[in-house]
Amino acid sequence: MNKELRQAVIAGNWKMNKTRPEAKALIEELKPVAEKAACGVVICVPFTNLETAVELTKGTNIKVGAENVHFEKSGAFTGEISADMLTEIGVEYVIIGHSERRQYFGETDETVNKRTKAALAAGLKPIVCVGELLCEREAGITEEVISRQIKLDFAGVSAEDIKKTIIAYEPVWAIGTGKTATAEQAEEVCAFIRGTLSKLYGQAVADTVTIQYGGSMNPKNAAELLAQSDVDGGLIGGASLKAADFGVLLEEASK
Ligand code: PEP
Repeated sequence: MNKELRQAVIAGNWKMNKTRPEAKALIEELKPVAEKAACGVVICVPFTNLETAVELTKGTNIKVGAENVHFEKSGAFTGEISADMLTEIGVEYVIIGHSERRQYFGETDETVNKRTKAALAAGLKPIVCVGELLCEREAGITEEVISRQIKLDFAGVSAEDIKKTIIAYEPVWAIGTGKTATAEQAEEVCAFIRGTLSKLYGQAVADTVTIQYGGSMNPKNAAELLAQSDVDGGLIGGASLKAADFGVLLEEASK
């Protein structure tokens, strides 16, 4: 249990959506919706919208995150963005190791680990995604996969730093598919992640880490998912693109 020891956070992942005018309009709609939230509110937006988002959310309870970060500080890495570049413009969070990056852009647990450490060193709060493929769930190796990801993704990350990290459990088969994990499945794996953290860092530390569920969370299924004792909010794709839907998730996570 110990849900009161950690903050529930609802983080939107806009992915490759929203031009600047569209982003401005959505943020203006989100402001009054987010105002009443008792949970953490984060929007992770494309690089081109980061400065706009930081500017427009000043003085509100909405925090801004990026969707990726490189692990080197600077240099010949065409197309990449460093952690310092993000903090310099007021970005506070960053998604690392999303399954779409693992699937389409060659992200591995090793690069997730490097990015996580670079983000933490720069003062960013990483939202690190882990999750099993459908074939892995069907083969009964979900826990083995998750345990390996946690150990490799956080290798060398200190207890102090893991407390600043959010872990998003995102079963790959549930992302953008409309197929949600049942509340029991989400709780089972989030609790397993906490147990794995407890073995690595001790129970007191594990109890303070925010562990989100992500995968087709929407206004209809959010209440049941967010009520689970080890589910501390969500990483939200599709439903973060509509202020009204995102607002319902914020309300549920605030209960
Ligand atoms: C995501 O992109 O992290 C995600 C969970 O997407 P969706 O909510 O659309 O499944």
